[in-house]
Amino acid sequence: MSKFAVSDNGFYGRFGGQYVPEMLYPNVENLRRAYLEILGSESFRSQYRKLLKDYVGRPTPLYLAGRLSEKYGTNIFLKREDLAHTGAHKINNTVGQILIARQMGKTRIIAETGAGQHGVATATVCALMGMQCVVYMGEVDIERQAPNVARMKMLGAEVRAATSGNRTLKDATNEALRDWISNPEDTFYIIGSVVGPHPYPDLVARLQSIISEETKAQLAEHTGRELPDCVIACVGGGSNAAGSFFHFIDHPEVRLVAVEASGHGLDSGDTAASIARGTEGIIHGSRTFLMQTDDGQIVEPYSISAGLDYPGIGPLHAHLAESGRATVLSATDAEALDAALELTRLEGIIPALESAHALAALPKLTFGKDQNVVVTISGRGDKDMATYMKCFGL
Ligand SMILES: *Cc1c(COP(=O)(O)O)cnc(C)c1O
Repeated sequence: MSKFAVSDNGFYGRFGGQYVPEMLYPNVENLRRAYLEILGSESFRSQYRKLLKDYVGRPTPLYLAGRLSEKYGTNIFLKREDLAHTGAHKINNTVGQILIARQMGKTRIIAETGAGQHGVATATVCALMGMQCVVYMGEVDIERQAPNVARMKMLGAEVRAATSGNRTLKDATNEALRDWISNPEDTFYIIGSVVGPHPYPDLVARLQSIISEETKAQLAEHTGRELPDCVIACVGGGSNAAGSFFHFIDHPEVRLVAVEASGHGLDSGDTAASIARGTEGIIHGSRTFLMQTDDGQIVEPYSISAGLDYPGIGPLHAHLAESGRATVLSATDAEALDAALELTRLEGIIPALESAHALAALPKLTFGKDQNVVVTISGRGDKDMATYMKCFGL
């Protein structure tokens, strides 16, 4: 048993738990009682593996980036989640959760989304399974993220606007929770990162652990060694990082590096670095670090990258950071943009802005020339072209 695994009552150290209203408790508890058995069942495993292979396009390559390696004087391998169907790692999770929903006899799916990436990944698997899909999204985000709203609608999802509060992600989350309370029988709530009340952080980490499972085997093939010296991933809620770290967590010789978005700078007031600048509290049903005022109101986070613009951090990462198991760095908007352009010009790969934050850690670290460093490219840059056009004057 990993000493970083979730405890029976849903904690990573003192982080995590199930801080939900009483009305929601039965739904969360039903899922908690069911998830491990379903994940371990032969029928789930075979369906999940088959969809990952034939539908998502896994395994994604582990690519030894030659010119990038030369620049940083070490062996840099890119885990290419950008090549997964829908262009990012989020589909690994939604494919798994919809299979669980079906196994539990649910017929209706709800989700909340900020930038729209998780909404698209959820609408995608609902189309695949012929299930009803309702995605809650803040009214402001609906305006900001028109292409993803259009994708969800084309996929057959209903996008419902959250019109309370700041009309962004937190408000969409509240609406989704309210919906789940009203529809406990037929509805499954698909959460998009390693956040939310137990068992979601553990469930999502397990579904994303395919990333490090493949990395191990692929690295052994490339180098003869299955353990890398260092794994680097960006963290919004922390699901691609959790999946990238999963099978290495109990190997202390593997350095784990999580990169937060510091926006205009850690001390600028415009940041999404919830570990570096957040304080302990409760968000979305779990105890963790979050951006909040002294009296506990959530502070709207800021990052150029919509997927990292989340006010909290998954409880696993709060624990990895506090225990010192993971190194937590941050990258500004400007550093991420430089890193995105660097990867594009050296390797012909345009990364998502989120993934560019992971790449921006490379100049902040030192490596030996024979070391093997894995950087997870969580998604592709197509969705960020408008930002790249503006910032690079293209
Ligand atoms: C959503 C997203 C992220 C951030 O989410 P995590 O749960 O922290 O992985 C990172 N990269 C891409 C491409 C995303 O779409």
